[in-house]
This record gives sequence, structure tokens and C-alpha cells, in this order.
Amino acid sequence: MLKAKKDLQKNEDLVLAPYAVKSSSSAGRVFKEKEDPYRLLFQRDRDRIIHCKSFRRLQAKTQVFVSYYGDHYRDRLTHTIEVTQIARDVARTLGLNEDLTEAIALAHDLGHPPFGHGGEYALNEMMGRFGLHFEHNEQSRRILEKLEKMSPDFDGLNLTKEVLDGLLKHKESHYMALLPFVSSPHLESQVADLADEIAYTNHDIDDGLRSGLISIRQMRKFRLWRKAEKDILEKYGSEMPLERFKSRIISRMISLMIHDVCATAERNIKKMKIKTVADVRYFNGKIIGFSAGLKPEMRRLRAFLMDNFYYNPKVAQQIERGKKLLKNLFMYYLEKPDKLPLPFRKNIKGGEAKEIVIKDYIAGMTDHYAEQCWKERKKH
Ligand code: MG
Repeated sequence: MLKAKKDLQKNEDLVLAPYAVKSSSSAGRVFKEKEDPYRLLFQRDRDRIIHCKSFRRLQAKTQVFVSYYGDHYRDRLTHTIEVTQIARDVARTLGLNEDLTEAIALAHDLGHPPFGHGGEYALNEMMGRFGLHFEHNEQSRRILEKLEKMSPDFDGLNLTKEVLDGLLKHKESHYMALLPFVSSPHLESQVADLADEIAYTNHDIDDGLRSGLISIRQMRKFRLWRKAEKDILEKYGSEMPLERFKSRIISRMISLMIHDVCATAERNIKKMKIKTVADVRYFNGKIIGFSAGLKPEMRRLRAFLMDNFYYNPKVAQQIERGKKLLKNLFMYYLEKPDKLPLPFRKNIKGGEAKEIVIKDYIAGMTDHYAEQCWKERKKH
């Protein structure tokens, strides 16, 4: 028996919480389209994101370790998949719209340049020379609204306004909002944002341990690690190969964080009297977050990773190298815009500022494509 869209909408009515965004109440897309008879709106958004080119390029963009460093480290694609998994679990537990949460999580890093935060820093610095700035969440919006070309009818992917606004993380980006809201357009967006933090904190500990740049001894300084370790030892005993032991602890830490976020959300929703999507829209502040008990521990963990992992010379040198490379590449195209690929040259002809077009091109590159462009410029 095939499920038509109206059956799926009925499922949403039955399962979702009153403060979840239902696809039937979506504000829709910027360009009117005939909708799919079987798929719900946010489901269709998710499918479009997975099939766009920018999504595939995440596989060769740096998360922390430059993407060709080793097979078991996260790149931006595996990071995105982990964020999505956590976001969906939290959304399901809270009775939120999983499709909407999933679409936002899948798209959240599309605008991230190569070479991780070094790349973002480099582009921001270059754009600063023109009185502009670069921020990857805004670039994700630009990709989804303009740069992807998959339909003869419109630029971008023509996603629903809920997904697009769901990507606006920072107050400074709120000028891009399509719908009115104060702090956040919906809880689904807040869940995707927090899932990002849970994912990267844990996978960076995992990658840090794997690389030997941080140690289990150092991790034992953290209450959360000790709690996870105690739980694992109680369940499995101490006779376990190290690889499995680490794996179980990371898994347990993710669970502890997810449980904390869900319990805190339940309390906050009650305390803040959140009953409808409009209550979320007009609420000044975040509703989804860690408990007061866990927040300082999360801050300490981030500070520890910053000092011992991200700023470790082994990581920082590669990022620094990438940062320089992107800045040089930017200067090169500024001098020789005729070396840009045809579609980008067309954008300049169409009236777009040269520096914006160059930023779009470089932000879209993978690590090795940026390297290749830099090498090949010597041939011209
Ligand atoms: Mg991310």
C-alpha cells in the first residue's frame, strides 16, 4: 500500500509535538513549484541537498586534519553525517520534525571552505580588504539560494524557507532571514546546531586520541570522561583491547550529552512555556542547550581541545599552510580573473563584484583542488 503525502502528513500530526514544525504548515519555497505527490516538503529538501555538488565536495574538505592525512580521521562529510545522526536522534526523542532537522544538519557546513577554520579565516581576511566578510553559514545559504544550478527554473535548490532560515546560526546573519523570528526560527534548527557541537567535541577527542596528540591520561581530568569510563568498566569489565575501550567511552560520552540535552530541553520547554512554533519564534534566547551542570564541562573540553589539538603544531602547521595557499590563490585570481572558470567569469560580466566571485569559487574548492589550482597556475 503506497503512502501518499497526505498519509505522511497525518503521521506528522500524530507523532510530532505541538511546538514542532509540521511540513503542512511550511511557509513554502521562494519559487512556487508543483510539489511531489509522495514526499513531504522537508523530505524533498533533504533529497535535494544530498544530490547537490557542494554536498559531494564535503568528502575532500578538512575538518581538523587535512583531508588526505589518514583514512580514519573525520573529513567534513563524515562530520556532517555524524551531526545528522545525533540531530535526528535528539529530534525524534523530543517529538520534533526529523526531516527538517536532518535537512539543516546535512546542509550546515556546505559553505565551509577547504582547510578547515584556516580556510575560513583566510577568506574572511581577504574579504575584509574590500570591507566585506566571510562566514561559512552565510556561504551555505548562498550556495543553496544561488550558486547551485540544478534546475532550469531557478538558481540554487529552492528549498523551503524553514530549512534556509534554520541555517542562520548567528545573530549577525539574521538579515538573511526569510521569516520573522527573534533568536531562532524553530527548535529543529537549535537541535541541529547543538548536534554539531556534540559531534565535533566527541569526534575531535576520538581523532585526537587516534593521532596521539592527546592521551587518555589527559582525558581523565574531565568529569564526563570519568563518568563514561566508569559506566563502561561496570558494563564490560577492564579486560578490553584499547581500541574497543576508547570506542565505547566516546559512544558513552555522546549518549550522556544527548541525554543531558533532551532532559534540559524538556525542562526548558515547560519552564519557558513553549507550546507552539510561534512561541519558539518569538522567544528571546535559546531553548535547546546543555544543562547548567554540563555547560562549564563542555567549555573546559573545548578549551582543552583548542590548546592541545587544534593548536598542536602538527595540526596547526597544515592549516597555516592551507591558509596561506588560499590567500595566494585569492590574490592570483584578483590579478588574473580571466583564469577563473567560465561560469564564474560570467558572474563577473553579469555585474557581480570580482572579489565575491573569487570568494565563491575558492570557498567551494576541496583541499586538493585548491592545491591543484595553485600548482597549475605556474603553467600559465
Ligand atoms: Mg559543522
